[in-house]
Amino acid sequence: MADNRSMRFGTLAVHAGQAPEPTTGAIMHPIFQTSTYVQPAVAQPLHGYDYARGANPTREALERNLAGLEGGSHGIAFASGLAAIEAVIKRLAAGDHVVSEENTYGGTTRMFTRVLAKLGVDFNFVDTSDVDAVRTTFRPTTKLLHVETPTNPMMRLCDIHALADLAHERGALLMVDNTFASPFNQRPLDLGADVVMHSTTKYLNGHSDIIGGILVAADDALAEEIRFVRMSTGAVPGPMDAWLCLRGAKTLHVRMERHNANGLAVARFLEGHPGVDRVLYPGLASHPQHALAQRQMTGFSGMVSVDVGGLARAKAFVERLRIFQLAESLGGVESLVSVPALMTHASVPDDLKKKMGLTPGIVRLSVGIEDEADLLEDLERALTRA
Ligand SMILES: *Cc1c(COP(=O)(O)O)cnc(C)c1O
Repeated sequence: MADNRSMRFGTLAVHAGQAPEPTTGAIMHPIFQTSTYVQPAVAQPLHGYDYARGANPTREALERNLAGLEGGSHGIAFASGLAAIEAVIKRLAAGDHVVSEENTYGGTTRMFTRVLAKLGVDFNFVDTSDVDAVRTTFRPTTKLLHVETPTNPMMRLCDIHALADLAHERGALLMVDNTFASPFNQRPLDLGADVVMHSTTKYLNGHSDIIGGILVAADDALAEEIRFVRMSTGAVPGPMDAWLCLRGAKTLHVRMERHNANGLAVARFLEGHPGVDRVLYPGLASHPQHALAQRQMTGFSGMVSVDVGGLARAKAFVERLRIFQLAESLGGVESLVSVPALMTHASVPDDLKKKMGLTPGIVRLSVGIEDEADLLEDLERALTRA
């Protein structure tokens, strides 16, 4: 197995953590579809594997690959993105405090406020693009700062480097949900974050056929604690899903180049369209944090949000699109569209929606890897008829 440090991103995507299978030399890692492993003597597993909640070779191949892409030493795979976030919170105890970005994925806010807060962990939500606001939200008991950048669906950024410094000054960890950017465009560990989280359901798998999550960390002790939580609570992905995700990740760099190009083309087209009030895309010069985007990202992905002026128009627009399919989720090869206020963020309280600027007319596009001209024609047709 080659050394990760000597490889560039595209080579890492294909090769990081991969070696031919020793029995047959199979070039692709096998799917070890097993729940347990034979032990030749009592409490002496043959190769360290005893039960698949603890370890599975297919899952480990995925974990090594994604750790390589994020520049970390440890990958810990989960059954979903939310299960990955939950595992980091479960390192904490009742009375500990978490500061979270206010405009996270809707399911993250729901898990924090309606499930984990009941167990005695305290949460505060803040606009993490404002470092001073984050600083004043910290308490002596704050153990974790959780951010998402760009955020979903407002495409707000936070300064990962500045927030890592702030968290570390206060003895807390910084977790970055890197789902929207993907490691092709942004590598939070390089900027000082302690743990990177992905819903692998999205860009990393890239083909809209699994639900999965991953945490990547550089620190051995932190990774060990997270593995202990996963082993003790059980939210592991199955071998088949791990294998599919590994297969998807091998083309991440090729897909992301096209997502980035199509995303920018769609954002520019919509910005110039009279039927659109506002376009939110970090790659546009009009984005209020474009300078930060250029500093901490190398590309801007395929996620574009637009405000078309109101709920009725948003509905009419999305229902008239033909190539963009109306569905939740994102990051697959196919273009998708959603109305966050009624779909992904329906569970977010109205006052929080208002605070983050999530108006009913906002439409979120996940721009796929189809031909640009077809996507622009589809948008033009639907906007004209809406
Ligand atoms: C989808 C998503 C999640 C949740 O991941 P699941 O795999 O659906 O559990 C978390 N964060 C972001 C940014 C997401 O898009």
